[in-house]
Amino acid sequence: MPGADVFNECMREYERDRDEARAALSARKAALYAKSPRLAEIEGELAVCGISAAKLALSDGADLESGIAALERKSAALSAERAEILRRGGRGEDDLRITWKCPNCEDTGFISGKRCACLRQKIIDKNYNASNLRGVLESENFDNFDVRLFSEEKDPKTGRSPRVNIEVMHRVCLMFAEKFDETCDNLILTGLAGTGKTFLCNCVAKELLDRGKTVFYATAPALFRIYDDYRFGKGDASELRGFVELAEGCDLLIIDDLGAEFVTSFTASELFNLVNTRGLNKKSVVISTNLTFEQLQETYTERITSRFHASYKILPFFGADLRSRKR
Ligand SMILES: [Zn+2]
Repeated sequence: MPGADVFNECMREYERDRDEARAALSARKAALYAKSPRLAEIEGELAVCGISAAKLALSDGADLESGIAALERKSAALSAERAEILRRGGRGEDDLRITWKCPNCEDTGFISGKRCACLRQKIIDKNYNASNLRGVLESENFDNFDVRLFSEEKDPKTGRSPRVNIEVMHRVCLMFAEKFDETCDNLILTGLAGTGKTFLCNCVAKELLDRGKTVFYATAPALFRIYDDYRFGKGDASELRGFVELAEGCDLLIIDDLGAEFVTSFTASELFNLVNTRGLNKKSVVISTNLTFEQLQETYTERITSRFHASYKILPFFGADLRSRKR
């Protein structure tokens, strides 16, 4: 499962961070103690104070309180002496403490059993990297969605303008992202190139990634190349297995440009298996395609399109090619 992989990778990173922090402290101490040997003595004496206090606490003797007070005075004096030595050397007491990347959880990822904010962010970052979408989502997200790019002129076939249509599509996609945890919806965005399909796919992806979901984006040609290489043992087996596990197990799979791949019985059966597996596991898929639903029916087997028909919302996009307008 990709989720567990990401989590385990985070845990290994924390372990490495803690080792590095400890090693850095040892190096700092060694350098300081070489310059001021008294600091090393103080550390030893403070440790003895600690051990004596612990012994005293267990002894339950009559002079427990006065004994503890004497030890506290001694260790306070040692700490003051140490602070003074450090100050004279232009150093602070922090130089003798571990520097954590996250002081809140001390690089463990957890605060009293709950995930620290730094772990949640780490998972989001890794999911962004795994999604294949890191760069593009900075500009393509719901915040940057601009309906004014779409014409208000009514389409003679539908009686609806591209602008009204894209507003409806926008709402459907926003709702899809908002209700993601409650319902297992699937979408097919159909329409010609440059009508906003990929943009809205990316909006959905970013919304979910920012909530800590795993998203995997691949164009249909790239996806089927991965499956082809994986099944026929071409390329790096463990890397390919990672991609296949991500495609099958991520929270949201986005297949962009379905129909642009070289359609064979092999790709068709991989597509069916993928859609079927995800459906059985209640995991969502968003597909974008330049083909109409009728063309999908002509291109793929009936068992795929009947599945699309039963459990996918079809969202039609139309209008002028925006990519040429922006240029
Ligand atoms: Zn933390």
